[in-house]
Amino acid sequence: MRLRIKGAKVLTQDEKRRILDADVLVEDGAIARIGDVKERVDETIDAHGMWLMPGLVNAHTHLAMSLLRGYGDDLPLEEWLRSRIWPAEDRMKEEDIRAGTRLAALELIAGGTTTFNDMYFFEDAVADECAKAGLRGIAGWGMVDVGKVGPDEPNPRLPEIERFLAKWKDHPLVRGAPAPHAVYTCGSATYGRSAELAKKFDTLLHTHAHETRTEVYDVVKLKGVRPLTFLQAHGSLTDRTLLAHCGWVTKEEVRTIAAAGAGVAHCPVSNLKLATGGTMPLPELLAARAHVGLGTDGPASNNTLDLFETMKFTALVHKQARWDATVASAQTVLDLATRGGAAALRLGDRVGSIEVGKRADLVLVDPRSPRLTPVHDPVSHLVYAARAEDVHATIVDGKVLRLGDDYRTLQPERILADAQKAAERLTRPVERAAKA
Ligand SMILES: [Zn+2]
Repeated sequence: MRLRIKGAKVLTQDEKRRILDADVLVEDGAIARIGDVKERVDETIDAHGMWLMPGLVNAHTHLAMSLLRGYGDDLPLEEWLRSRIWPAEDRMKEEDIRAGTRLAALELIAGGTTTFNDMYFFEDAVADECAKAGLRGIAGWGMVDVGKVGPDEPNPRLPEIERFLAKWKDHPLVRGAPAPHAVYTCGSATYGRSAELAKKFDTLLHTHAHETRTEVYDVVKLKGVRPLTFLQAHGSLTDRTLLAHCGWVTKEEVRTIAAAGAGVAHCPVSNLKLATGGTMPLPELLAARAHVGLGTDGPASNNTLDLFETMKFTALVHKQARWDATVASAQTVLDLATRGGAAALRLGDRVGSIEVGKRADLVLVDPRSPRLTPVHDPVSHLVYAARAEDVHATIVDGKVLRLGDDYRTLQPERILADAQKAAERLTRPVERAAKA
């Protein structure tokens, strides 16, 4: 299978961040050439006037929470979780997870995201739907110990999770991961066993860490140490670990994260919306050479999966926090959303830039619109002005998932109708109970 993308401006995001006017040849899912392509191909995409960039990497999300988008907004975090999210989640069945994941997959593909890193329940269904949609990613099976097992007992789901990891370990696009929710909800045995499984199946250990100040101090009260120290003590802070948030870490903890080689998913939109207060120390993490990517977090706390929006927020939040317009430049932020995210997910040798030999995860952006005119610097536009709607084509592993209005793996109308129905079924009884 050969695909030619003809005449685009190619933002390679390679080591030198070269921007080239060139064709790109994709062969058997990989980037085979950047330059003139004259040979016969199976499909040509005319990309004159457009920008070709590496696919965006969403380093932390909960895809099926798309069904809870806009549900119970503007409540304090604890009340939001207890009165809305948890009761609705308790009602979720596999078919709901599938409907929510398909909705999220549609949004990701529409908005130029090619790789996801998920954490939720029924992840076998999430992995299955994402694989069918043609996305690349990691499906993290979430675990919560509180209320299920004692503080030093392993989570009862672990045997099932091990079978899930074995099932997906050789899939070309999607693999599984153990995902203990957080140190305040999971104990030492669950983390220890998750670390063993991540190593055995060569995958991530995906967890929330240092999201809120309350979380950090609760863990100190409960376990006598801060969450990162706890993770380290139980073999769960390694180069396989992906830490979501890290809004409340010290400078010393920044060095610890970097030295461990762990990845960090920065989720500024979710942090701002849930009012977590702490701003992840991006300049320090980058100076320490930590692997940092961007995440949207779940669509219930964002409320979109639009990584263009997240890029803009990332740049703005750090400039504002530091009183310094030079921190978090457009190029730095675009790096986080592409090569940075890929490195944080241990996929840096496969995706994250447009280079010969890498897998062809590519996005075409059409800048011929008022908000992207005139063009002085495409990188600036991608971070500060572009939106998900400016994406024209999304390609994963050399397969065209979307070209203009043509979605080749998903049926948009049906997905929207199913999602609306599922969301109403989940939330109506909760609403009724709240009124009673
Ligand atoms: Zn999260």
